[in-house]
Amino acid sequence: MHLTADGTTTRFRAYGPRQLDEIARRHPLPDAARETVRLVSRVLPFRVNEYVLSELVDWTQAPDDPMYQLVFPQHGMLDEADTAVLRRLAGRRDGDPEVVAAVRAIRERLNPHPGGQQELNVPRDDSGTVPGLQHKYRETVLYFPGQGQTCHTYCTYCFRWAQFVGDADLRFAARGPEGLIRYLRGHPDVSDVLVTGGDPMVMTTERLRTHLEPLLDAPTVRTIRIGTKSPAYWPQRFVSDADADDVLRLFERVVGSGRVLALLAHFSHPRELATPLAQRALERIRATGAVVYCQAPLIGHVNDSAATWSALWRAELAAGLVPYYMFVARDTGPHAYYRVPLTRAVDIFQDAYRDLPGLARTVRGPVMSTTVGKIVVDGVEQIAQERYFRLRLLQARDPRLVGRPFRAPWSPDAAWFDDLRPETGDDETLRAALTTGFRTEVAR
Ligand SMILES: *Cc1c(COP(=O)(O)O)cnc(C)c1O
Ligand code: SF4
Repeated sequence: MHLTADGTTTRFRAYGPRQLDEIARRHPLPDAARETVRLVSRVLPFRVNEYVLSELVDWTQAPDDPMYQLVFPQHGMLDEADTAVLRRLAGRRDGDPEVVAAVRAIRERLNPHPGGQQELNVPRDDSGTVPGLQHKYRETVLYFPGQGQTCHTYCTYCFRWAQFVGDADLRFAARGPEGLIRYLRGHPDVSDVLVTGGDPMVMTTERLRTHLEPLLDAPTVRTIRIGTKSPAYWPQRFVSDADADDVLRLFERVVGSGRVLALLAHFSHPRELATPLAQRALERIRATGAVVYCQAPLIGHVNDSAATWSALWRAELAAGLVPYYMFVARDTGPHAYYRVPLTRAVDIFQDAYRDLPGLARTVRGPVMSTTVGKIVVDGVEQIAQERYFRLRLLQARDPRLVGRPFRAPWSPDAAWFDDLRPETGDDETLRAALTTGFRTEVAR
């Protein structure tokens, strides 16, 4: 371990369940918490690094500390019966057939593949499906480089958790950009490529370059986005890693080509923006001409208060970033542990939003990214004796539906779109989209 004077590591190293004792030697991780992580991480992914442990977690507040909740698997994420099974098997090896079977059964109950994203939106061309691509909205394709499918630290709420425990089929990811480039040639409507993961910024600059540079020869691509949590989880990527300067030069090249380069930065809590290293990373990124848009889900135990979101959006604005989306968490993994009912999500969003200066009111939310499209809950309205959620499609597979408002009867504990019964009146296009529309492939 190389530590600098301010306690940050100079080289990235991931800690997993096998390094729990090492973590406990360096930080005041209570024995009981260590056992919980050992147990739960047999089912759910656990990965952290020294920067998160020493700069983000407030150990005096653990286990209630939001950063601790963000990265450490918790008691309560699995139900009592499953926890009891794991406890009974605690002494056995990972490869023990009974352990393997129990772990698989528990994971299967945690809805490991929400929304059918990977199967539904994979485009085809003349040579078959194009691995590593999803094309859901006309102007944007998602691109999953195969070497960027992990993260510097895992969030306990991640909807891609199945991929990190090796349960999801990783063949969907792209080994190289050839398929993407071919697809873009046949689809000039696509102006926006969103490179995502995992976290593409776990790749070396050399590797990232092989995925990004070919896009600069695709004239129809005007915007390149990179979805990343690295400014929060490993800001060294842009400051002190051996190839930190190189990645900034790569960003400058993209910007210099006349394209918009946007980092879609995932910030869950204002503390992630508060360290000098994070501030430095963001300054350096912005100096390349890249724009930083910010998004995160609303998560119980992590950021479920208006004060937290108000502070987060203000910190983003102060750092020159653009608040963009507040998401509703998907129904997967330990969802029961962190779910926030929609009606509370609306209150939190609106209370925080009202508090903001105008320039930070670029944020939209709470947004559900569903098979139908991105649906924002604009509020709760009362008509005579009835209460409704006011909903609106921010993004839709069918471009005619973008911006379309609709409503659904209010419910105190609905926490996802599936829990609602939307009213579509006599709008057939909307009705079809909300019921069967999500079953149709993007055919072009
Ligand atoms: C959110 C999202 C996009 C981008 O939508 P914007 O509103 O342009 O940010 C693209 N594809 C998928 C699948 C998405 O979920
Ligand atoms: S950074 Fe994103 S992809 Fe990685 S664990 Fe967190 S939510 Fe999942």
